[in-house]
Amino acid sequence: MNTDTKPILVIGAGVAGMTAALETAELGYNVILVEKEAFLGGRVLRTHRYFPKMCPPACGFEINTRRMRQNPRITVHTLSTVEGISGRAGHFDVRIKKRPRYVTGSHTLDDSILAQLKSERSNDYNFGMDKTKAVYLPLDMAYPPVHMLDREALSEDDADTLLKACPPGAVDLNMSEDEIEIEVGAIIVATGWRPYDASKLDNLGYGRCRNVITNVMMERMAARDGPTGGEIVRPSDGKKACNVAFVQCAGSRDENHLPYCSAVCCMASMKQARYVREKNENSRATIFYIDIRAVGRHEKFYYDMLEDSNVSFIKGKVAEINEDPAGNNLILDVEDTLMKKTLHQGFDLVVLATGIAPNTADVPIPFDLKYDDYGFIDGSAGVEGIYAAGCAKRPCDVSKAVKDAMSASIKAIQRLDKGE
Ligand code: SF4
Repeated sequence: MNTDTKPILVIGAGVAGMTAALETAELGYNVILVEKEAFLGGRVLRTHRYFPKMCPPACGFEINTRRMRQNPRITVHTLSTVEGISGRAGHFDVRIKKRPRYVTGSHTLDDSILAQLKSERSNDYNFGMDKTKAVYLPLDMAYPPVHMLDREALSEDDADTLLKACPPGAVDLNMSEDEIEIEVGAIIVATGWRPYDASKLDNLGYGRCRNVITNVMMERMAARDGPTGGEIVRPSDGKKACNVAFVQCAGSRDENHLPYCSAVCCMASMKQARYVREKNENSRATIFYIDIRAVGRHEKFYYDMLEDSNVSFIKGKVAEINEDPAGNNLILDVEDTLMKKTLHQGFDLVVLATGIAPNTADVPIPFDLKYDDYGFIDGSAGVEGIYAAGCAKRPCDVSKAVKDAMSASIKAIQRLDKGE
């Protein structure tokens, strides 16, 4: 252990970034963890449950935040982005931009204060399916446990109300953007992914048909702390959805969108079909697929789903989704390639298994790294001292992201120990 070295920078605080930060710090190295959102946890925290054990993400997240609180070697910067990197392995200069939170964290803001506000904002944590007050915590166990204030959404009247209701110093509406410069010895890039933009798949009806949602929206809908309190409903009328279709490869394996397989969406749809079945014993789930990718221990989950007579697997690429003019139902047109017939089938709700696009495709790391054709960081990034982990490298599930993070942590430590 060499605790006199420069810190290691971890960019991104989803499951890969948090793991890399914790593993590194627990070996006695200083870590600076930078997260663009107001809270740690990333995409996994937004799921209802995750493989392999179908655990709610809150359990692992709570353990990780406890480890983080207990470890003085980790410095966390939320609402922060890396704007510039220069230098070389053993000595990188990094410029970080910090956006204002407007809530200082000096006092806890209780619900009686928030109840006085009228200003609301679309809740991006729930993919816009509900709203929050302009001052909000996206979830009870948010880390850091400090509210965020959406300055654009807060009306001037509510700004006055807030300042009067809060203890002095709790809110600072004059807070501004800040920039800091740090020096680090190595960098771990764990910038994660975003769901592919389903509105680009016009034939599949997202944005055009009210009851077409994406798989990430389904995760929030199924979660008890989600926008519907855990009920799977049709957005058009709030009625329980009992006949749900899942459309696989929505954007993935398509030369016009994401040409690669997103790796996790077959299992995600099977998991979500189970959510549907667990909510209501008479419910039905139909999965329209091209190929089912269920490898290793996931295969058993697939075979278990095949045993359920209320779950159907139909091999065929969905050509078109439209609303039934007579009501809220959706009609899917699809060629069943095994039965060799065209189907024209109705459903309450359709879930698009949208794929994984790397965040680095839109916002590359400000250093000359190697990327593949789709914006994923290519293998070891092509630069000594910079290591990628998780979905910054390729689509992967939680357990692979965690293993990746551990390996990136070891590589970063080894590089640091060599010195400049
Ligand atoms: Fe399609 Fe399944 Fe690959 Fe996702 S994991 S892109 S649904 S084959």
